Amino acid sequence: TDAPRDTLRAGTATGDADVRERFRELFDRTADGVWAAPGRVNVIGEHTDYNDGFVLPIALPHTARVAAARRTDGLFRFASTQTSVGSDADIAVVSVDELAPGAVHGWAAYPAGVAWVLLADGHRLTGADVLIDSDVPTGAGLSSSAALECGTGLALNDLFDAGLTDAELARVAQRAENDFVGVPCGILDQTASMRCTAGHALFYDTRAGLAEQVPFDLAAEGLRLLVIDTRVQHALGDGAYASRRAACEAAAEELGVPALRDIGLAELDGALERLQDDERRRRTRHVVTENARVLEFVERLRAGALRDAGDLMVASHASCRDDYEISCAELDLAVEASLAAGALGARMTGGGFGGSAIALVEADAAEAVADAVRAAFAEAGHAAPRVFTAVPSAGATRIA
Ligand code: ADP
Ligand code: MG
Repeated sequence: TDAPRDTLRAGTATGDADVRERFRELFDRTADGVWAAPGRVNVIGEHTDYNDGFVLPIALPHTARVAAARRTDGLFRFASTQTSVGSDADIAVVSVDELAPGAVHGWAAYPAGVAWVLLADGHRLTGADVLIDSDVPTGAGLSSSAALECGTGLALNDLFDAGLTDAELARVAQRAENDFVGVPCGILDQTASMRCTAGHALFYDTRAGLAEQVPFDLAAEGLRLLVIDTRVQHALGDGAYASRRAACEAAAEELGVPALRDIGLAELDGALERLQDDERRRRTRHVVTENARVLEFVERLRAGALRDAGDLMVASHASCRDDYEISCAELDLAVEASLAAGALGARMTGGGFGGSAIALVEADAAEAVADAVRAAFAEAGHAAPRVFTAVPSAGATRIA
């Protein structure tokens, strides 16, 4: 599947027919509908979401497709074609009464958590059969988990007429991940999956909850955005994410502000002088400068100067690597090799410690940059990365 010349094509979601057919085979009934929610890449604005800051994601064409049908007996059954569906043992079954954090283990906690949040909010869910079929690479920093949650949320919202908006469903999905799965993520991934639109980047102010669709027409400008999946599996549950979050919250408290969002670039030097702890200083510097970079990136996008925005990506990567300490050798190499081969900008994307990098390149240089990255990985003895083109795609929607 990864023939070298093939990999720059965007991944395309298959239609709804396959997942409908599998649903019928597995549950011996017809799905009431099929929903699709995408993975994402964050163009810039890393680890700013839980600091009330700014982010700029695009949705990928890769989606989690969710075929679902209502039940009336209080049972939820969850299955995924990515976890070798075929026997009853592969289906996670839980009743409305049992649904509580800790009651569902493994991957099914993501969709079960969404049902739990909706029930906790008073929506009258009476059970459902749910089959997930996703082509979002997992653990690659491309938000396969948010795709799973958002696709499930949208399906349950429709099946039970819960009437939630996309913004509300993003919150539901985030709470499922925070409180049911136990990952202290911010709102970036779920907002991107729910609210991105094709051909745009989503400029999102996480404090205000304000979303602006900024035209992001790479092709029209003769550009491409490459995703370089290092295939190093990140594991954000290992405490590194939580410790970054804690350092930011402690710094904000020490500085007497609700969140690091409240420190502007002009106040940064003064703030750094007041912080006692070097780690907190570096985390603060990352968040404050990263927020400023998002705003500047958006300005350049609006001005039609995407080509000039590459330096912001490079600065973002350096800040993630040096001040926030969330990069790794493979991500650094992906960025360095891309830039050396002529990329206009490159940076790690997502939570870090593995996962993916992105590179902004002239369209006609894309193959050369991808080849250079592959060669550098081979040279360094790393497993071959998966490289593809990110096409800004649609957010979560019902497809059948
Ligand atoms: P990311 O969101 O960056 O891909 P996470 O660690 O947040 O990484 O989420 C990955 C987890 O989400 C997987 O380990 C698995 O539990 C779950 N997951 C994602 N996609 C699927 C799928 N298609 N089927 C089953 N589980 C999935
Ligand atoms: Mg995730």
